Amino acid sequence: MDWVPIEQVQYWTTDKKFGVKLNPKALRELLRHAQSAGTLETGGIAMGRYSECHTYATVDLFTGPPPDSQHGPMTFLRGTSGLQRLVAKLWRSERRYYLGEWHYHPHASAQPSGTDLSQMKTIANDEKYATPEPLLFIVGGDPNSEWELRVYLAFRNRDQLEPMNQRTSG
Ligand SMILES: [Zn+2]
Repeated sequence: MDWVPIEQVQYWTTDKKFGVKLNPKALRELLRHAQSAGTLETGGIAMGRYSECHTYATVDLFTGPPPDSQHGPMTFLRGTSGLQRLVAKLWRSERRYYLGEWHYHPHASAQPSGTDLSQMKTIANDEKYATPEPLLFIVGGDPNSEWELRVYLAFRNRDQLEPMNQRTSG
């Protein structure tokens, strides 16, 4: 399991053409959501910005689960209640985009499941999200101590998620 320092975390595709940087405050918030979920999966969406040349995205906010989400020990179905309003508000006030999804695998590997892949593909193909290459963040392990975070890119026409590699400096 990789130990991820909480400051300055960034992930890049293997070809280094696209990266994602995590605001440490947002990452701490994600871990708090995972901590309060106990033994159940939980999740939400990632909001943030793209750099000018679209070479990387910065996540400023990981939201908690919408109230109509369904939480199981090995399943999470993110609800939609209130999300559209939140996304519109963050766009209007701060020009923040929907970047993708996150969820928590309690005390398990952060490896994506087949369901995770198909959900991300659905989002990539859904015009409502207007995000052809959404990001997937999965936190696994114990959010109080030994956790890991894996980041993936999803594509409209690909039956695979592209793993992004953590880079600690730069
Ligand atoms: Zn999952």
